[in-house]
Amino acid sequence: MSEEQSAMETDNQKTEKMFTLKKWNAVAMWSWDVECDTCAICRVQVMDACLRCQAESKKDFYGKQDCVVVWGECNHSFHYCCMSLWVKQNNRCPLCQQEWSIQRMGK
Ligand SMILES: [Zn+2]
Ligand SMILES: [Zn+2]
Ligand SMILES: [Zn+2]
Repeated sequence: MSEEQSAMETDNQKTEKMFTLKKWNAVAMWSWDVECDTCAICRVQVMDACLRCQAESKKDFYGKQDCVVVWGECNHSFHYCCMSLWVKQNNRCPLCQQEWSIQRMGK
């Protein structure tokens, strides 16, 4: 009886380990996947409002609507808010250092 029980416990532990590893892999793949959709300037996903607008939308809901996404010729995307501040100092893409020119804007 007690032997059987300990055998079962070992089995459970094995399954748990495999599960943890699988879960970790899934998380790692997921974060890799979203990396290109993350604004390199504020580190927030471009489909969400940027940090600045998120802070403001707590006070003013409509602030969020102005936060659009821009894609450069290099296909990197950022928040327009973040990029418009960035280009004042450095007219290059923060990710690939190519000269920044806007390919399209929107959501
Ligand atoms: Zn941003
Ligand atoms: Zn914004
Ligand atoms: Zn780029």
